[in-house]
Amino acid sequence: MDAKSSFNSRKTTFKAENSILNANDIQTAAVLGSGTMGHGIAQVLAMKGIDVRLFDISSDAIDAALGKVRANLDKGVEKGKVEAATRDEALRRLRGTTSFDEAIDGVAAVIEAVPEKLELKRDLFSKLGSKLGPDVLLATNTSSLPISNIAEAAEYPERVTGMHFFNPVHIMKLVEVVRAKQSSPEAVEQTMELARRMGKEPISVSDSPGFASSRLGLVIGLEAMRMVESGVASAEDIDKAMTLGYGFPMGPLKLTDLVGLDVRLSIAEYLKEEVGAHFAPPQILRDKVARGELGKKSGQGFYDWS
Ligand code: NAD
Repeated sequence: MDAKSSFNSRKTTFKAENSILNANDIQTAAVLGSGTMGHGIAQVLAMKGIDVRLFDISSDAIDAALGKVRANLDKGVEKGKVEAATRDEALRRLRGTTSFDEAIDGVAAVIEAVPEKLELKRDLFSKLGSKLGPDVLLATNTSSLPISNIAEAAEYPERVTGMHFFNPVHIMKLVEVVRAKQSSPEAVEQTMELARRMGKEPISVSDSPGFASSRLGLVIGLEAMRMVESGVASAEDIDKAMTLGYGFPMGPLKLTDLVGLDVRLSIAEYLKEEVGAHFAPPQILRDKVARGELGKKSGQGFYDWS
């Protein structure tokens, strides 16, 4: 069969089966990668009645992830925010595995949260496509990579979307649902619905560098750094201007310290290339990163965290 007729035949099967589930009917999902984001995504899915297979190449990472989910849920119960029965049911629905085949067998949706490396993600999406049918939703939690490039590696690129969660996933309400150029309207709608089912507020964004949140957040962060650099005001006072004057929950420089100055520098360099010169990292940011002042994680950034 040549490429075109193979494409047509799978399209026909796709239509004939018409088996794409409403997101509310999804019963089983796989989460790939059990780190900072993966464990949170798995927790929230399980709390919403979905059986979750949490896949990682490291069994230690899975053990740590399951421990974190249990701790999050226990804390929720302690604070009266989670019913004990919801916790027990969520833990029952969650299973960790280092077997890729076992993780994805029979699932209706996959959410990928492995490290931010394009080739790694493309490799996984290509493997998913050869094992899962065109009815399965394939979402990536990348925070910066082009979704269209990841989708290109999949057998059914029209089923691939971006599902950009925020850390910590069980608390943060926002999900950016990113439309790759190949994403079908059904896949996008299903992703929005899945986010809503997870208790999140999805926004719809086209596949453009930095999506909506990183692009706009970084402009403010970089300008705040330039203002410190040129002596307009101290970091504390610039942050106060935004929290008290504009109602930001946290000032842009404190947020930079929490995200990590190295992380913000690499996103700024990427957006400078992809979007424009206004993302050029200020010298103060480069200098601080060179000195190892990476923010809260290193004890020093725009604030002293020691
Ligand atoms: P992390 O390093 O905490 O976790 C990644 C996990 O993936 C690790 O447990 C690792 O063992 C596992 N892994 C590595 N290779 C794998 C493979 N081939 N198959 C399965 N698992 C594999 O990373 P993270 O912070 O959770 O980030 C994951 C993704 O989420 C990235 O794309 C990142 O850009 C995105 N993201 C992160 C944040 C954040 O605040 N950390 C926010 C939004 C989006």
